Amino acid sequence: MGTTPRQGDKTRYRARLARVEVLTPTTKHFEWEVSGPKPFVFTPGQFISLHLERTGADDVRPYSIASPYRGDSRFDLCLNRVEGGFFSNYLCDLELGAEIEFEGPFGFFVVREPPIDSLFVATGTGIAPVRGILQDLFAHGTDLQVWLVFGVRYPETILYRNEFAELAAQHPNFHFWPTLSRPPAGWNGRRGHVQEYVGRLLLERPDLDVYLCGLKAMVDDLRQRLKARGLDRKQVRYEKYD
Ligand SMILES: Cc1cc2nc3c(=O)[nH]c(=O)nc-3n(C[C@H](O)[C@H](O)[C@H](O)COP(=O)(O)OP(=O)(O)OC[C@H]3O[C@@H](n4cnc5c(N)ncnc54)[C@H](O)[C@@H]3O)c2cc1C
Repeated sequence: MGTTPRQGDKTRYRARLARVEVLTPTTKHFEWEVSGPKPFVFTPGQFISLHLERTGADDVRPYSIASPYRGDSRFDLCLNRVEGGFFSNYLCDLELGAEIEFEGPFGFFVVREPPIDSLFVATGTGIAPVRGILQDLFAHGTDLQVWLVFGVRYPETILYRNEFAELAAQHPNFHFWPTLSRPPAGWNGRRGHVQEYVGRLLLERPDLDVYLCGLKAMVDDLRQRLKARGLDRKQVRYEKYD
């Protein structure tokens, strides 16, 4: 991982849909195989710009890459079906083998070099780039202390729950804190908003690097709170989805 991740150069890549997994009634995991015109290389946490034609005009939306770079031609996306949304519904309705066009990679939501003990905070599909980053860190055998505070509404919407639980079981230095805003009776885990647990952790560990990804309201709110606590701007990286 470099300090300045490479950025797209206007190359239009093509990718074929190789695998789909339904994660929740409104969220899907997609695996794409890049078919050309050249190898697609990215830093975990970056995004692609997907192109679609709508009434004759080229339209574009960013989507975070949900996997690490594995040295092959595959990458993952994690997508939420937005009511009335053009791209998200188009993508969620695609059949295996369908092709998309995209440019990339783009963005600076990548691990700061050198990596230090870190806190990742994600809500909803904001988990996508975080999944790529965490898989990469632990594939390289990191011994850093890493927290993931993942905010969703219900237990069944904890995306990639088994994967993260397994990662935590294998690595005592990975702390997985799923947090439910609408917990059912009998939920013994964390409840409420991610902000509360972030605040508590940073009281003990104000030295952590912090990575935030999700909808604007959460990211803006947390950035304000972190600033008020005196965290250095360099300690905080973020990606907003709207
Ligand atoms: C850097 C970046 C990375 C992103 N990565 C992802 C990702 O990994 N997975 C993912 O699912 N999305 C991601 N998004 C959001 C994505 O780019 C689209 O905005 C989203 O898929 C909706 O596009 P659409 O064409 O379906 O909706 P549009 O046709 O653009 O919008 C339809 C309506 O839905 C509203 N709307 C748009 N986006 C959302 C939203 N996210 N939630 C609720 N309402 C919305 C609009 O205000 C509008 O009223 C990312 C956004 C950014 C900026």
